[in-house]
Amino acid sequence: MTLKVYNTFTRKKEDFVPLHDNRVNFYSCGPTVYDYFHIGNARPLIMFDVFRRYLEYSGYEVNYIVNITDIDDKIINRAIEEGVDFKDITCKYTDAFYEDCEKLGIRPATVHPRATEFIDDMQKLILRLLENGHAYEIDGDVYFDIKSFNGYGKLSGRDIEQMQAGARVDVNDQKKNPFDFALWKAAKPGEPSWDSPWGQGRPGWHIECSVMAMHYAGDTLDIHAGGQDLIFPHHENEIAQSEAATGKPFTKYWLHNGFLDIEGKKMSKSLGNFLIINDILKKYESAAIRVFFLLKHYRSPIDFSEERIQEAKAALDRLRNAYAKITRVIKKSEKAPSDNPANLTATEVIHLKQNKTAIIESMNDDFNTAKAMGHLFDIAKIVNSIDENAETSLVILQEAKEILDTLGSDVFGIVFESTAQTDSMVDELVQLLIELRAKARKEKNWELSDLIRNRLKEIGITFEDRQDGTTWKFG
Ligand code: AMP
Ligand code: ZN
Repeated sequence: MTLKVYNTFTRKKEDFVPLHDNRVNFYSCGPTVYDYFHIGNARPLIMFDVFRRYLEYSGYEVNYIVNITDIDDKIINRAIEEGVDFKDITCKYTDAFYEDCEKLGIRPATVHPRATEFIDDMQKLILRLLENGHAYEIDGDVYFDIKSFNGYGKLSGRDIEQMQAGARVDVNDQKKNPFDFALWKAAKPGEPSWDSPWGQGRPGWHIECSVMAMHYAGDTLDIHAGGQDLIFPHHENEIAQSEAATGKPFTKYWLHNGFLDIEGKKMSKSLGNFLIINDILKKYESAAIRVFFLLKHYRSPIDFSEERIQEAKAALDRLRNAYAKITRVIKKSEKAPSDNPANLTATEVIHLKQNKTAIIESMNDDFNTAKAMGHLFDIAKIVNSIDENAETSLVILQEAKEILDTLGSDVFGIVFESTAQTDSMVDELVQLLIELRAKARKEKNWELSDLIRNRLKEIGITFEDRQDGTTWKFG
């Protein structure tokens, strides 16, 4: 079964056929680094990370590009507010972006280009658009002439004439059309700026993405992704300026994620429900956040609430319990190899394989992670239901492990071992055994105290008796 993706451009699910054999050029609009990223921004980052992993799992070589917008009005305003250089802002929040991605288990992209490294290329593209009549200059600003481009509105389904009729036209606006957008902006006093054929200035936001995408992927991308809010004007403008310059289609498949609300309300600073990743991670585990997103199809709206995240946590625990059982039984069998013949025809093995196929089919249906997760839970159910001591248990659990490791871990990015939790639990359990051993020794029950010490040694935990008590270490 081939992968089908919903293409915003055609409003249909289409067979996914990359332009160049096995290689997929995949660009996702990245963050504007003027603040910490929030739980809404995490949705495209996590979901497109999963798509990239799934494409790789399916055998594609993925050139995954996530840009960093490091020059933009919001950044300049923030720098003015704080009285610092704009680079102080962008460096701080770019570092924070990488740190948060790591905490959320989002793999680094193949490349994370920064807009300010491509100013020359942006100017070259703008010159091309001026030369071929798609752009015009007014007092150091350069605008894209949307009427000069035949397909303007084709992604968002907007009609220029209707847009114009409904637009409020600024009296001072000298633009040919109120929707003509800035390719280059003349610098205002005190703003960061670069030399250009049109005087000191800086690029517009849309041109940044076109240039970085084309630099790393050529004139036509396989996939361009972002949140639904970016369809208009950002992606519409990217198409117009790129295609007007190259004469080639800019992107084959457009993918857009739905929006995240907080308890039914739009997230906003004024409502006080603006949740940044660092604050969320103080309360919830990263893997639970990932499961929360995976439980919903990426194009649907998603609501973040205490209840939903608790549900995700409970779902994660079910998977973890199953995984812990697998690890325990496999470990036990390594110590005492069983001579049971491998029984690959056990019904459970067949059910596991059916669920694996169902996960792949769900993912091939426009990355339906919600449905795929349902099958992952079915796998956990099978694992929980089997008798550890049965002859076939090892074979079944090995099969389940393979599915959980590849699809659950590698593709969905779910961490099955909860390190923070296990670390503290291991410590508490060993402390308990230290206490029991001390009690046994006090009662001169040497047999029990030796048993505790020796059994722990066997599983890799050593006691160290000191004058002030007993401590322990791995080894
Ligand atoms: P921004 O930094 O606002 O440009 O957003 C970066 C990415 O996050 C874009 O792809 C946005 O569409 C996406 N995004 C922003 N807010 C939300 C939200 N509440 N829900 C889902 N995606 C969002
Ligand atoms: Zn973009």
